[in-house]
Amino acid sequence: MKSVNIAIDGPSGAGKSTLARRLAARLGFVYVDTGAMYRAIAYEMIRRNAESERDILAALPDLQISLRYVDGAQHVFANGNDVSALIRTPEVSMRASAVSAIPAVRAFLLETQRQLAKEQSVVMDGRDIGTVVLPDADVKIFLTAAAEKRAYRRWLELEEKKPGTQSYEDVLADVIRRDKQDMTREIAPLRPAEDAVTVDTTDADLKQSEEMLYAVCREKLHL
Ligand code: C5P
Repeated sequence: MKSVNIAIDGPSGAGKSTLARRLAARLGFVYVDTGAMYRAIAYEMIRRNAESERDILAALPDLQISLRYVDGAQHVFANGNDVSALIRTPEVSMRASAVSAIPAVRAFLLETQRQLAKEQSVVMDGRDIGTVVLPDADVKIFLTAAAEKRAYRRWLELEEKKPGTQSYEDVLADVIRRDKQDMTREIAPLRPAEDAVTVDTTDADLKQSEEMLYAVCREKLHL
């Protein structure tokens, strides 16, 4: 039977991963967080001191990125090592945004991502899922929110994990910088697919946002 694919794209902090995970659980689909794959590459490049594009390209062939599910949660592995807990730092975020602008890095992950969506029904989130990775996805959602609200959510998250790491102003500056980097890059820039439904979560809490996404899926999938 053909797998069902739901693509969710949008800027950082719009609630993509939390909402995509919940949506996948509700539909009985597998959640695929493609940002974690870029983050795993970025983490490995930092660890290996590969900074220039040349060094990054030279390091790619030795790198294997895979996803496995432990108690239903996605874990990302770099050459067999579980790096999931190491990739959620501001440094890795910025580096992920930079490495993801390199065409060879995107090509490196593209087939893995397509294969995952072919083998099983997925909710896949990222920046270019509806436009590049799964252009024939059954549902495409562009999830967004005002930059200030996204920065505030990210800051709260950081405060919970490691209080005092970054000020709200710094997080907002990072969000704006990363948005710009993601939206203006030449390859696979962040933008809504023509047939995507835009969902704005600026004024919605998680539960309301989840219902908005579920309503789009119900309509498109005739549930
Ligand atoms: O979604 P997350 O913040 O974890 O993604 C980290 C970075 O990886 C993003 O800033 C973006 O530059 C990049 N990315 C991408 N394409 C994807 C997923 C993430 O370019 N499909």
